[in-house]
Amino acid sequence: MNGVVVVLGRQGAGKGTQCGLLQDRYDGVAHVSTGDMLRDAAASGTPLGAHAEAIMATGDLVPDDVMCDVVAERLAALDRSGVTVLLDGFPRTPAQAEALAGMTAPDGLLGAVLLEVDVREVSERMQARGRGDDTAEGIARRLELYETQTAPLVDWFAERGLLRRINGTGEPAEVFDRLATAIGGLVPLRLSR
Ligand code: AMP
Repeated sequence: MNGVVVVLGRQGAGKGTQCGLLQDRYDGVAHVSTGDMLRDAAASGTPLGAHAEAIMATGDLVPDDVMCDVVAERLAALDRSGVTVLLDGFPRTPAQAEALAGMTAPDGLLGAVLLEVDVREVSERMQARGRGDDTAEGIARRLELYETQTAPLVDWFAERGLLRRINGTGEPAEVFDRLATAIGGLVPLRLSR
Protein backbone atom coordinates (compact mmCIF):
# COMPACT_ATOMS: atom_id res chain seq x y z
CA MET A 1 0.00 0.00 0.00
CA ASN A 2 1.22 3.45 -0.85
CA GLY A 3 0.00 5.24 2.25
CA VAL A 4 -3.23 6.58 3.71
CA VAL A 5 -4.79 10.01 3.24
CA VAL A 6 -7.57 10.79 5.72
CA VAL A 7 -10.49 12.83 4.39
CA LEU A 8 -11.99 14.69 7.34
CA GLY A 9 -15.12 16.78 7.55
CA ARG A 10 -18.63 16.94 8.91
CA GLN A 11 -21.22 14.46 7.81
CA GLY A 12 -22.75 15.85 4.63
CA ALA A 13 -19.57 17.71 3.64
CA GLY A 14 -19.29 15.62 0.47
CA LYS A 15 -16.46 13.29 1.54
CA GLY A 16 -18.02 10.15 0.09
CA THR A 17 -19.02 11.74 -3.22
CA GLN A 18 -15.68 13.40 -3.74
CA CYS A 19 -13.64 10.34 -2.72
CA GLY A 20 -15.66 8.23 -5.17
CA LEU A 21 -14.88 10.71 -7.96
CA LEU A 22 -11.19 10.72 -7.06
CA GLN A 23 -11.09 6.93 -7.16
CA ASP A 24 -12.65 6.99 -10.65
CA ARG A 25 -10.43 9.73 -12.00
CA TYR A 26 -7.03 8.56 -10.71
CA ASP A 27 -5.23 5.24 -10.91
CA GLY A 28 -4.06 3.60 -7.73
CA VAL A 29 -6.52 5.39 -5.45
CA ALA A 30 -8.87 3.34 -3.27
CA HIS A 31 -11.82 4.95 -1.46
CA VAL A 32 -12.37 3.23 1.89
CA SER A 33 -15.51 4.44 3.68
CA THR A 34 -16.28 2.96 7.07
CA GLY A 35 -19.92 4.09 6.79
CA ASP A 36 -20.25 2.23 3.47
CA MET A 37 -18.57 -0.84 4.98
CA LEU A 38 -21.03 -0.84 7.87
CA ARG A 39 -24.03 -0.29 5.58
CA ASP A 40 -22.85 -3.17 3.36
CA ALA A 41 -22.40 -5.37 6.43
CA ALA A 42 -25.91 -4.46 7.64
CA ALA A 43 -27.41 -5.18 4.21
CA SER A 44 -25.77 -8.61 4.07
CA GLY A 45 -26.71 -9.40 7.66
CA THR A 46 -23.22 -10.20 8.96
CA PRO A 47 -22.61 -10.15 12.75
CA LEU A 48 -20.84 -6.81 12.35
CA GLY A 49 -23.81 -5.47 10.39
CA ALA A 50 -26.30 -6.67 12.99
CA HIS A 51 -24.24 -4.99 15.72
CA ALA A 52 -23.82 -1.73 13.81
CA GLU A 53 -27.31 -1.33 12.39
CA ALA A 54 -29.10 -0.19 15.54
CA ILE A 55 -26.24 2.11 16.50
CA MET A 56 -26.15 3.72 13.06
CA ALA A 57 -29.91 4.30 13.12
CA THR A 58 -29.56 6.56 16.16
CA GLY A 59 -26.50 8.37 14.83
CA ASP A 60 -24.29 7.10 17.65
CA LEU A 61 -20.79 5.80 17.09
CA VAL A 62 -19.89 2.14 16.77
CA PRO A 63 -17.35 1.30 19.54
CA ASP A 64 -13.72 2.14 18.84
CA ASP A 65 -12.42 -1.43 19.21
CA VAL A 66 -14.90 -2.71 16.63
CA MET A 67 -14.05 0.06 14.16
CA CYS A 68 -10.30 -0.29 14.64
CA ASP A 69 -10.54 -4.03 13.84
CA VAL A 70 -12.64 -3.31 10.73
CA VAL A 71 -10.15 -0.76 9.42
CA ALA A 72 -7.05 -2.77 10.33
CA GLU A 73 -8.46 -5.73 8.43
CA ARG A 74 -9.26 -3.64 5.33
CA LEU A 75 -5.85 -1.96 5.32
CA ALA A 76 -4.14 -5.32 5.74
CA ALA A 77 -6.09 -6.64 2.74
CA LEU A 78 -4.81 -3.70 0.66
CA ASP A 79 -1.28 -3.89 2.03
CA ARG A 80 0.30 -5.52 -1.01
CA SER A 81 -1.78 -3.63 -3.56
CA GLY A 82 0.26 -0.47 -4.06
CA VAL A 83 -2.83 1.75 -3.78
CA THR A 84 -3.14 4.99 -1.87
CA VAL A 85 -6.13 4.73 0.47
CA LEU A 86 -8.53 7.66 0.85
CA LEU A 87 -9.95 6.97 4.26
CA ASP A 88 -13.43 8.45 4.74
CA GLY A 89 -15.27 8.24 8.09
CA PHE A 90 -12.28 7.03 10.11
CA PRO A 91 -10.78 8.13 12.44
CA ARG A 92 -13.70 9.71 14.25
CA THR A 93 -12.31 9.76 17.80
CA PRO A 94 -8.88 10.39 19.34
CA ALA A 95 -8.55 6.66 20.16
CA GLN A 96 -9.18 5.81 16.50
CA ALA A 97 -6.56 8.35 15.41
CA GLU A 98 -3.97 6.78 17.71
CA ALA A 99 -4.87 3.34 16.40
CA LEU A 100 -4.52 4.54 12.80
CA ALA A 101 -1.10 5.99 13.59
CA GLY A 102 -0.09 2.56 14.89
CA MET A 103 -1.49 0.72 11.86
CA THR A 104 0.33 3.00 9.40
CA ALA A 105 3.62 3.46 11.29
CA PRO A 106 6.28 4.44 10.52
CA ASP A 107 5.51 6.46 7.38
CA GLY A 108 2.16 5.36 5.95
CA LEU A 109 0.02 8.22 7.26
CA LEU A 110 0.51 10.78 4.50
CA GLY A 111 -1.84 13.47 5.73
CA ALA A 112 -5.40 14.59 6.38
CA VAL A 113 -7.49 16.86 4.21
CA LEU A 114 -10.33 18.71 5.97
CA LEU A 115 -13.32 19.48 3.78
CA GLU A 116 -14.80 22.56 5.46
CA VAL A 117 -18.55 23.14 5.20
CA ASP A 118 -20.53 24.91 7.92
CA VAL A 119 -23.19 23.25 10.07
CA ARG A 120 -26.13 24.95 8.39
CA GLU A 121 -25.12 23.85 4.93
CA VAL A 122 -24.37 20.22 5.87
CA SER A 123 -27.74 20.00 7.67
CA GLU A 124 -29.51 21.17 4.52
CA ARG A 125 -27.51 18.75 2.37
CA MET A 126 -28.31 15.78 4.64
CA GLN A 127 -32.01 16.64 4.71
CA ALA A 128 -32.00 16.71 0.91
CA ARG A 129 -30.03 13.43 0.71
CA GLY A 130 -32.58 11.51 2.80
CA ARG A 131 -30.48 8.47 3.73
CA GLY A 132 -32.00 6.08 6.30
CA ASP A 133 -30.15 7.70 9.20
CA ASP A 134 -30.82 11.25 7.97
CA THR A 135 -33.74 11.88 10.33
CA ALA A 136 -33.80 15.20 12.20
CA GLU A 137 -32.69 13.44 15.41
CA GLY A 138 -30.03 11.37 13.63
CA ILE A 139 -28.56 14.41 11.91
CA ALA A 140 -28.47 16.38 15.17
CA ARG A 141 -26.84 13.51 17.05
CA ARG A 142 -24.17 12.94 14.39
CA LEU A 143 -23.31 16.63 14.19
CA GLU A 144 -23.07 16.80 17.98
CA LEU A 145 -20.72 13.80 18.03
CA TYR A 146 -18.68 15.39 15.25
CA GLU A 147 -18.11 18.51 17.35
CA THR A 148 -17.26 16.64 20.57
CA GLN A 149 -15.42 13.55 19.28
CA THR A 150 -14.14 14.22 15.77
CA ALA A 151 -13.39 17.96 15.59
CA PRO A 152 -10.49 17.57 18.10
CA LEU A 153 -8.78 15.45 15.43
CA VAL A 154 -8.28 18.58 13.35
CA ASP A 155 -5.77 19.72 15.99
CA TRP A 156 -4.39 16.18 16.32
CA PHE A 157 -3.43 16.17 12.63
CA ALA A 158 -2.35 19.83 12.62
CA GLU A 159 0.04 19.28 15.55
CA ARG A 160 1.71 16.51 13.56
CA GLY A 161 2.07 18.72 10.48
CA LEU A 162 -0.38 16.50 8.59
CA LEU A 163 -3.40 18.82 8.04
CA ARG A 164 -4.58 20.57 4.88
CA ARG A 165 -7.81 22.58 4.84
CA ILE A 166 -10.08 22.80 1.82
CA ASN A 167 -13.16 24.97 1.26
CA GLY A 168 -15.90 22.38 0.70
CA THR A 169 -18.55 24.85 -0.52
CA GLY A 170 -19.29 25.84 -4.10
CA GLU A 171 -19.64 23.81 -7.27
CA PRO A 172 -18.79 20.11 -6.79
CA ALA A 173 -16.30 20.35 -9.71
CA GLU A 174 -14.47 23.19 -7.95
CA VAL A 175 -14.37 21.28 -4.68
CA PHE A 176 -13.04 18.28 -6.60
CA ASP A 177 -10.20 20.37 -8.06
CA ARG A 178 -9.26 21.78 -4.65
CA LEU A 179 -9.28 18.33 -3.11
CA ALA A 180 -7.27 16.77 -5.95
CA THR A 181 -4.70 19.58 -5.64
CA ALA A 182 -4.38 19.05 -1.89
CA ILE A 183 -4.08 15.27 -2.20
CA GLY A 184 -1.70 15.66 -5.13
CA GLY A 185 0.57 17.58 -2.77
CA LEU A 186 0.74 14.50 -0.55
CA VAL A 187 1.03 11.73 -3.13
CA PRO A 188 1.54 11.78 -6.92
CA LEU A 189 -1.80 11.31 -8.73
CA ARG A 190 -1.97 9.66 -12.17
CA LEU A 191 -5.05 10.22 -14.33
CA SER A 192 -6.75 6.97 -15.29
CA ARG A 193 -7.18 6.33 -18.97
P1 AMP B 1 -20.92 7.84 7.71
O1 AMP B 1 -21.43 7.24 6.44
O2 AMP B 1 -19.42 8.01 7.73
O3 AMP B 1 -21.65 9.10 8.09
O4 AMP B 1 -21.21 6.76 8.85
C1 AMP B 1 -22.54 6.34 9.14
C2 AMP B 1 -22.60 5.78 10.55
O5 AMP B 1 -21.71 4.66 10.66
C3 AMP B 1 -22.15 6.72 11.64
O6 AMP B 1 -23.19 7.59 12.04
C4 AMP B 1 -21.74 5.75 12.74
O7 AMP B 1 -22.85 5.21 13.39
C5 AMP B 1 -21.10 4.63 11.94
N1 AMP B 1 -19.64 4.85 11.75
C6 AMP B 1 -18.99 5.02 10.56
N2 AMP B 1 -17.67 5.18 10.75
C7 AMP B 1 -17.47 5.12 12.09
C8 AMP B 1 -16.33 5.24 12.93
N3 AMP B 1 -15.11 5.47 12.43
N4 AMP B 1 -16.51 5.13 14.27
C9 AMP B 1 -17.72 4.90 14.79
N5 AMP B 1 -18.84 4.79 14.07
C10 AMP B 1 -18.73 4.90 12.72
